[in-house]
Amino acid sequence: MHEFALARAARDTIVKHKKDRVKIYIGEIQQIDVELFKRLLVEETSDLNVLLEFYEMPAKMRCNVCFSEWLYRDLELTEDQKESIHFLPESIHIFVKCPKCSSNDFSIVEGRGIYIGTD
Ligand SMILES: [Zn+2]
Repeated sequence: MHEFALARAARDTIVKHKKDRVKIYIGEIQQIDVELFKRLLVEETSDLNVLLEFYEMPAKMRCNVCFSEWLYRDLELTEDQKESIHFLPESIHIFVKCPKCSSNDFSIVEGRGIYIGTD
């Protein structure tokens, strides 16, 4: 299970930070079960006396041709398409193209994966 490994890795990072409050940013586009991950991380860190704050990090895309940027949440995608992207993020290139120049050559520049911060 991917979520267990991630929760373990996140715990290690939190231990290193040595703070009593950490922010967990969860990218909008990732392949994990977010609710399960949150639950596991709370369990994994229950002995650390740390306050976890969870935030969703919006996914942002940037066109590699014309360099315009847009947000995943502004796209009009069907539930099926969203599900495909959840399980296979690379499939986003099938469903999404640049709103400006229609290229499907773009990068996901933010909002993938999980980030831990203490600020
Ligand atoms: Zn473009």
